[in-house]
Amino acid sequence: MRLVMASANPHKVEEISEILVGYRIDERPKGLADVVENAETLEGNAHLKATAVCNFSGDAAVADDTGLEVDYLNGLPGVRSARFAGEDATDIDNLMKLLKALEGVPEDQRTARFRTVAMVVFPDKSVLRAQGVAEGFIARLPRGEKGFGYDSIFIPVEGDGRSFAEMASEEKQLISHRGRAFRQLALSLSAKF
Ligand code: IMP
Repeated sequence: MRLVMASANPHKVEEISEILVGYRIDERPKGLADVVENAETLEGNAHLKATAVCNFSGDAAVADDTGLEVDYLNGLPGVRSARFAGEDATDIDNLMKLLKALEGVPEDQRTARFRTVAMVVFPDKSVLRAQGVAEGFIARLPRGEKGFGYDSIFIPVEGDGRSFAEMASEEKQLISHRGRAFRQLALSLSAKF
């Protein structure tokens, strides 16, 4: 079965392709304009992205949307994680804004979680969805060169104190939000086909 990726982010594409083995994964169509991710929920944004790619390509499309929920900030940046520091913010802008917002906040109040909603939208408009969560806390300074986004400031509780950006991709995948969501999605896909 052919699945078209809604994301062009090479880190995400690598992580997702490693899990959805046995499927022909095609890259995001080049001619498709960026999708405006203006839904109020991760689920809504994943649906917008997968539907746009499915309509454009005529094939089943796979998308995910991820948010970092920081307890001290009442769940922010959450669904606004990509635009936390503004519409055109870079990963570094977002991460610096988050560190600033948590300046002076003690260790036990820096708890957070990554949440991913993974989804396949089919040409007949039917949908498969799954969710994955990784609990952790926000470090005081970035650590590690791997990964992307907020990885360098996120310390998963199921790890050994290293940030996601200090882990090899396979290590991160085992305990990560996206790893969990897509393993669950893969199970649903194999039950359906
Ligand atoms: P989106 O799911 O691509 O919309 O990502 C939302 C925001 O979360 C962006 O700022 C990403 O860089 C960030 N993000 C998504 N997945 C991860 C991850 O696995 N680690 C760190 N940051 C992530």
